[in-house]
Amino acid sequence: MEPLVSVSGLSHTYGVKENRAVALRRVDLEVAPGERLAIMGRSGSGKTTLLNILAGLETPTGGRVVIAGRDLAAAGRRDREAYRRNVAGYVWQQPEDGLLPGLTAVENVMVPVLAGRGSGPEQVAVALGLLDAMGLRERLHDRPALLSPLEMQRLAVAVALANRPLLLLADELTARLDWDVACELLGDLTSLLDRLGTAAILVTHDPRVARYVDTALMIRDGVAAAATPEPGLARGHSR
Ligand code: ADP
Ligand code: MG
Repeated sequence: MEPLVSVSGLSHTYGVKENRAVALRRVDLEVAPGERLAIMGRSGSGKTTLLNILAGLETPTGGRVVIAGRDLAAAGRRDREAYRRNVAGYVWQQPEDGLLPGLTAVENVMVPVLAGRGSGPEQVAVALGLLDAMGLRERLHDRPALLSPLEMQRLAVAVALANRPLLLLADELTARLDWDVACELLGDLTSLLDRLGTAAILVTHDPRVARYVDTALMIRDGVAAAATPEPGLARGHSR
């Protein structure tokens, strides 16, 4: 099967001369359609840089990034905007960065839904279906500030999936949550991804997240290496 994501020799350097910071060094990775990959590593290892490049938010200084047939390293601003609108969904490290504070939960999900395909009633059903799948049925008319950290993450996921992306990118989804609560979120998320057939890249400093993915990659000082996912990852059996 053709990979959905194909990254080779990806490098990224911030700044110039004495301010130079090398964030990624020749990273290679592939993700198949519907596959879930965890990228694990300590703070400062390059995870957010990698995710921002995969989201078309940052142009890499070297290497090749092809997602759904689009060459992101070579794409201009408009192509990258179209890519973000149509192909990728992004959950920010600070989930509220992806939410509009003046809008309710359902209105936040409707924004990307309306930018996408479909007619009015169908679009409302898509938004409600996502909120329901993320356990927010009781929170439809609340603004983000009223939500708990778990509910805020759940809403950020629903918003990121609202354009029906082929690829979900999520930065430190569970960093603010206790592990038992994080398990609820990851369980609901992986069920939803399976149902939609959406691939995902989950960036995390918590190795336990690897229980919920097919493949794990460890990144250290910008260098990536295959990692062994924790046991218990079998599809449909993760908790
Ligand atoms: P992580 O998400 O794993 O914590 P980052 O991708 O945020 O790692 O950072 C990787 C490296 O790049 C770090 O050394 C960080 O200081 C540096 N870095 C990140 N963003 C910038 C930036 N905008 N300008 C300069 N250096 C940066
Ligand atoms: Mg980060």
